[in-house]
Amino acid sequence: MPSELVAFQNPFLTPPMSAIFRKNAPDALGLSGGAYPSPSSLPPLSLPDSPASNRPRRRPYHFSTQCATVDNPDEKDQYGSSSVPIYQTATFKGLDGKFDYTRSGNPTRSHLQHHLAKIYSAQHAFTVSSGMAALDVITRLLKAGDEVIAGDDLYGGTNRLLTYLKEHNGVTVHHVDTTNPDLIVPLVQPGKTAMVLLESPTNPLLKIADLELICNYVHRIAPDALVVVDNTMMSPYLQRPLELGADIVYDSGTKYLSGHHDLMAGVVCCNRGDIGKQIGFIINAVGNALSPFDSFLLLRGIKTLAIRMDRQQRSAMAVATFLDTHGFKVHYPGLQNHPGKGIHDRLANGPGAVLSFVTGDKALSERIVGATRLWGISVSFGAVNSLISMPCAMSHASIDPAVRAARGLPEDLIRLCVGIEDPQDLIDDLENAIMEAGVTLPSIMPSIVEPFSPIRGEPWAPPPLIFAPQPVLEERRKPTHPHWFISAPGKVILFGEHAVVHGVTAIGASVDLRCYALASHREDGYISLHLPDLNDWYHEWLIDELPWDSVTPTRIGEDHGPTLDPRLMDAINNRALPKSVNEERFARAKAAVTAFLYIYMILRPDTKAKPSFRFTTRSTLPIGAGLGSSASYSACVAAVNLIFAKRTTLTEPVRRRLNSEATISYTIKHDGRRAIPTEVADEVNKWAFVAEKVMHGNPSGVDNTVSVHGGAIAYKRAVNGSKGGMDGLHGFRSVKFLLTDSQVPRDTKKLVANVATRLKDDPNRGADVLDAIQAISIEGFRALSDPEIPRETLLAGLSKLIKQNHAFLKELGASHISLEEICELTDEFGLCTKLTGAGGGGCAVTLIPDDFYDDSLRILMDKLVEAGYQPYLTTVGGSGLGVYPVTGDPTPEEKEQLHRDFVGQPRMGLAKWAEEQGGWLYV
Ligand code: PLP
Repeated sequence: MPSELVAFQNPFLTPPMSAIFRKNAPDALGLSGGAYPSPSSLPPLSLPDSPASNRPRRRPYHFSTQCATVDNPDEKDQYGSSSVPIYQTATFKGLDGKFDYTRSGNPTRSHLQHHLAKIYSAQHAFTVSSGMAALDVITRLLKAGDEVIAGDDLYGGTNRLLTYLKEHNGVTVHHVDTTNPDLIVPLVQPGKTAMVLLESPTNPLLKIADLELICNYVHRIAPDALVVVDNTMMSPYLQRPLELGADIVYDSGTKYLSGHHDLMAGVVCCNRGDIGKQIGFIINAVGNALSPFDSFLLLRGIKTLAIRMDRQQRSAMAVATFLDTHGFKVHYPGLQNHPGKGIHDRLANGPGAVLSFVTGDKALSERIVGATRLWGISVSFGAVNSLISMPCAMSHASIDPAVRAARGLPEDLIRLCVGIEDPQDLIDDLENAIMEAGVTLPSIMPSIVEPFSPIRGEPWAPPPLIFAPQPVLEERRKPTHPHWFISAPGKVILFGEHAVVHGVTAIGASVDLRCYALASHREDGYISLHLPDLNDWYHEWLIDELPWDSVTPTRIGEDHGPTLDPRLMDAINNRALPKSVNEERFARAKAAVTAFLYIYMILRPDTKAKPSFRFTTRSTLPIGAGLGSSASYSACVAAVNLIFAKRTTLTEPVRRRLNSEATISYTIKHDGRRAIPTEVADEVNKWAFVAEKVMHGNPSGVDNTVSVHGGAIAYKRAVNGSKGGMDGLHGFRSVKFLLTDSQVPRDTKKLVANVATRLKDDPNRGADVLDAIQAISIEGFRALSDPEIPRETLLAGLSKLIKQNHAFLKELGASHISLEEICELTDEFGLCTKLTGAGGGGCAVTLIPDDFYDDSLRILMDKLVEAGYQPYLTTVGGSGLGVYPVTGDPTPEEKEQLHRDFVGQPRMGLAKWAEEQGGWLYV
């Protein structure tokens, strides 16, 4: 009957044939097992399915060849297709065909099962919808009253299903440490024990069970008991439990077999016809057979199994050796110190690509996991991409914590699933994460000398790694951070400037031009400030000579009041500012220096905390052009002072929080790594606002908020009793803008006053203009945060709003001849431009649609430069505050050199240089 075609039955594996592939069963003591044949020396699992099958004297195909060669002589494709087609059909016509209904049988699945049987040394192979579905099918062979013996370090989902069977189906489950067969034997009872469920290596502790020996024991004591092996960690390339005496082997095809994390699948294989029949019946009855499309994908994945696995386990060995050499307790059967290595080497052809290690501290483990960049935080394993996880919080979270503890599953355990990336990159990333998390590693970077080319089935050999002689982790201590890099973005007002003074909503967004700061510890009792971009202003103060008598210290957790402390401001102005700030050329520096000193002194929590450091800031933002350069400087000043006063958790290694999306209200797009918690950002923002006050008297708070939080915000000022406030713009899509600095200096206060006069002179028109700008802001806000609007429509709409907003600002008298010329020049290219900020000079912003030609952009930028303007291409809506804590113990010369390099970078190359220094963390 067609309905019985659920399973592939390997016609080539007749019993006498398969017998030659089975090792002799070990004696009762299990001592007879010798070295197991490697994939290269495996005899053929079947007569080759190739046209050469009528020439049996040819050498048997190696495993990798078998993987890549999908051929079923019984089901030749009618068109000779090279790849098995997807038979995406539920039904088949006719009464006497091989297939009738896809739940029962499907040609794509049939090919897959034929292929799996071949590589698994099996007579029967079945594929179902997931690894758990495979176990579900297998455990349906149990009945009430049956006993199951299972491992104590099983995959969480397996544990969950067994618990369900125990609680609902009257099955007794014993969990034992399967590394010790002596613990299993007393539990095996003829007539009672129906199943022994094993994993080796176990997941995630990589414990080794002697599958061969246990099969032998169980079959001798209870011949009816079925030994079932979950072989997911190994795949058939590395271990074939049916050859070791198991009755059933299953695999989560989601893992190595597929290799790309793009499907879910389960595989069940067995040799016994009676078991195969029952399994086939169950799958057909419950209807969980693998779909044709997933069968196709799985078949495709299997073709590269051997080559992927070779690379992955070589890299895993490199990673395990790296961790082991640095003193971590590593679980990996490839390491000489693994207690089960001898047994594993006998059973399998390689240690696999999953390993785990402990750090001794759950919080430290969390920080390490959070600080990796290349390793994806994810459950599962077996894909080409490397993954990192904490099993207790993720894959094994379904196991009760008390049970986890009883079974010796450490809460600080980190599991690594190694992919096919370059192993050196993986190790570098791990090393950086470990150091960022607070562990000082001795400088013994492994250098991987072997090019990691694919190998052709030769026996497993550890990858050649060369380590410098210092062998162990000497000390685990908090890292010292001799330097801190900080950066914060500037902002543009996209809509609503000027009108904001009168209670209209303004939209501010971050730009990817930034202020950068480098702060280094000093030990000489001095504090210094260097502003290379403000005419190279530099000064250092002997800390004890600052006017401390005028400071009211702010205790930790205490906020600054609504107004600046006049006593401290006076003291700074009269007793701390050096005379040089009064020179004309340092006019801009004066406010920056005052703000720095004010924040430095007021953040002093007590008389002892007077940190000594050197502070240098650079800006890729044009200074004084209305792009929030002072706010980004303020954010850097606030962050660095909070860090050095040890007032923020930034002094602890910052960590990425799992699921932190929801808590970050302002930040929308991040090119960098989102790792700074919102609480820290809020604290920095509060003090950045204070610094802004020192510099500007009465700032709105928009600039510093955008600078610290990034993304975009809508701001409304409370006017005449109306409610004001800030609103993070969720779902903001970053947009490319050309910022053009007109290089015309302007007087903001005067411009604001002019606009106020115009509104007063013609209140009716004034009200209309303000209403119109409010409508523009609201429409811009709505459009920017609406993910449903197609991008093209969004950009076209924004361009129109920009043009309208500029026309109103011009009417209010905020434009300038230079700004009008910029508008005209960009208009020639079909682009829309508006002034931003106070106007009267300053900067103009031009929206650049995604499809605007690079060449046209270059021509436009040249034209703008020719006309005497300075254009900057930027993205609006990126990350907020960035921090990079440099770790290490540099010599004074090295410290000096870093500052020199920082100062010496050309402005245009600064961002790239800073990014290359190391792993920045962003709000
Ligand atoms: N067995 C092991 C060892 C696993 O790790 C998993 C999944 O992680 C499974 C079985 C279940 O497989 P699936 O997720 O495909 O249902």
